[in-house]
Amino acid sequence: MNLQLSTEDERFLAEVRAFLHGALPEDVRRRALTPLHPPHEDDRRWWNRQLYERGWAAPSWPVEYGGCGWSPLRAHLFEQACCEAGAPELRWQGLRLFGPVLYTFGTAEQKARYLPGILRGDTQWAQGFSEPGAGSDLASLKTSAVRDGAHYIVSGQKIWTSEAHYSEMGFFLVRTDASVKPQAGLSMLIIDLRSPGVTVRPITMLHGDTAVSEIFLDQVRVPAENLLGEPGSGWTQAKFLLGNERTGGAETHHSRRMLRRVTALARTRLREGRPLIEDARIAARIADVGADLEALEWSVLRVLCGAPQRWAEAAVTSALKVRGSEIQQRVSELGMEILGFDALRQYGRDEGFASRDLAAGITADLLYQRASTIMGGAREVQKNIIAKLAFGL
Ligand SMILES: Cc1cc2nc3c(=O)[nH]c(=O)nc-3n(C[C@H](O)[C@H](O)[C@H](O)COP(=O)(O)OP(=O)(O)OC[C@H]3O[C@@H](n4cnc5c(N)ncnc54)[C@H](O)[C@@H]3O)c2cc1C
Repeated sequence: MNLQLSTEDERFLAEVRAFLHGALPEDVRRRALTPLHPPHEDDRRWWNRQLYERGWAAPSWPVEYGGCGWSPLRAHLFEQACCEAGAPELRWQGLRLFGPVLYTFGTAEQKARYLPGILRGDTQWAQGFSEPGAGSDLASLKTSAVRDGAHYIVSGQKIWTSEAHYSEMGFFLVRTDASVKPQAGLSMLIIDLRSPGVTVRPITMLHGDTAVSEIFLDQVRVPAENLLGEPGSGWTQAKFLLGNERTGGAETHHSRRMLRRVTALARTRLREGRPLIEDARIAARIADVGADLEALEWSVLRVLCGAPQRWAEAAVTSALKVRGSEIQQRVSELGMEILGFDALRQYGRDEGFASRDLAAGITADLLYQRASTIMGGAREVQKNIIAKLAFGL
């Protein structure tokens, strides 16, 4: 494996950095660098549009669907540069999750209708999979879609749907056949969240903000043409989508960005007149998590560069997700310890976005990151996958 960047990749990175330098206003950067969840929605839509106009909204989508068609390594370098520069994080539900499902499994009409809005950032999407009784055991979900002429009638409840209250559309996993084995009765359905019978209720989370919602579907009439693929093919599409979700689950760019903030905090905060970074225990902990993060970054690059693997691919993506989410938690815990009692100061959302204080958002981030080992598939379940696929247990 050769991880030396080629001259072309170096040139590409220089072009991306020059663009980012000119395109990102200071206030947008500052808001994006403040770790609040969910991030500033208007900035994300605006940034999506800037990238779209530059032709860079979807680094890994094929060119024929409006993407850049870049290699995984180049897409990684691009995202890393955006994150370093303080660009707003784009909404992942449409660009990273549903878009690839749509161009892989959708009809020509579905692609023509929905892909352009995802690329431009005009339409935001929510992922309606989990239910109150079906998270890890997703195949047991109960939301039903019953065919009625040219429509499906959809009833049920979804929960923990990220950013649904900022979304216009949703891709839902529903049960179209209750008479077959659970996985075989599932289908993926596109639902307009503004339809009669849809109620989206935001949930206030531990960190005091609303990053997720519950969605109630009460006899919602959905055009049958919104079904993706054949009835009963939803499990195949969901597995394809969850594989993509977990590959991005290492979140190394964000941990790196946050570690930089935490390190800067340790340089500026004083104990007995000396910067905390001079405390050997703090310095050692920063170095420790930094080394683990670097090792994870190399592992992600090895996967992206296609190094020969003896593990099954799903086990690798699960391992990256587990390790990445644990590092996110360690970095945010370190930030909170550096703050000490000052971590008790609660920043309001607007105040946090406006603040130049490095402490803004650190406590909220710690509380939010409790979820990183749950969302996208709980850690214990990921470990079961690794045990089974990698070690044959
Ligand atoms: C912030 C956040 C955002 C989310 N966003 C979305 C979204 O946009 N769309 C969406 O559809 N879902 C979303 N989810 C839901 C997420 O996918 C589920 O929470 C997750 O899959 C776990 O399911 P559950 O909450 O039902 O927990 P459960 O499945 O009830 O698990 C509870 C506990 O039991 C453990 N457990 C369960 N089964 C096993 C097993 N077989 N072996 C060992 N331990 C087990 C779990 O690890 C966990 O600790 C989000 C969740 C969070 C927290």
